[in-house]
Amino acid sequence: MNHGFLKNNINGVTFLSVPSFDATGLCMTCFSTRIGGVSSPPLGSMNLGFGRGDARENVVTNYRRLGDAAGFDAMSLVAFSQVHKNDVCVAAASDAGEAFLPEKRKFDAVITDTPKLPIATYHADCVPIFLLDPINRAAGVAHAGWRGTAAKTPAAAIERMQKSFGSDPSKLLAAIGPSIGMCCFETDGDVPSAMKDAFGDAAEEFITSHANGKFHISLPSLNALTLRDAGIPDANITLADECTCCKNDFYWSHRATGGVRGTMAAIIMLKGETAE
Ligand SMILES: [Zn+2]
Repeated sequence: MNHGFLKNNINGVTFLSVPSFDATGLCMTCFSTRIGGVSSPPLGSMNLGFGRGDARENVVTNYRRLGDAAGFDAMSLVAFSQVHKNDVCVAAASDAGEAFLPEKRKFDAVITDTPKLPIATYHADCVPIFLLDPINRAAGVAHAGWRGTAAKTPAAAIERMQKSFGSDPSKLLAAIGPSIGMCCFETDGDVPSAMKDAFGDAAEEFITSHANGKFHISLPSLNALTLRDAGIPDANITLADECTCCKNDFYWSHRATGGVRGTMAAIIMLKGETAE
């Protein structure tokens, strides 16, 4: 397992990228932060969510600023409404710009083999999972809150990459971005019970129980377990090791803000030429 994402600051916009993915030269990776946008408090300043009470023009400007800094065409972004399930979209060029539609389709994961098509999931504590097939040149990104973690959304994305692109899990690169950590993710009994149903005894290692009847759970570790179970070697997995709730001045955290917050995006785009 590799540890740590790279922090980039370009034109005042701060975003993270995945070193092992960047090293292939095949893709652009970007996990946005709160830093570098034009939105006002309490959404200051990089809010990428249209449903957060922000002015639409602010959000569009934020996308453009992020795209210019990270190196993707913001207006082509493919993103969906997220519903904490494990449905996967196989995105093509005709889906470009879905992030800006008033009514988006519902998916919690998206994969593509189309170059120059940025695909994204939205986050504010929930776990982002990046996927790259450097052999068949395909990429994916998934969103997993606790329900998506129990539903093994990243495994659904990997399975779809196998079917659609012939991906071999043992050759995939994966990365788990900033999300709420075990330190801050306190739950009632429903969450550990869902994890034990999904992972069996293997879940125990990532759950602690407390005298007050509450639990703490590591969603990043459980998603790493899903990636390993799907066949991705440990050496191919990178963990950001950052808690969005602890660092809520830098990342948007739903829990830390009580829900009055902006939205971040996990974005991946394949480089290369578009087929004619
Ligand atoms: Zn924390």
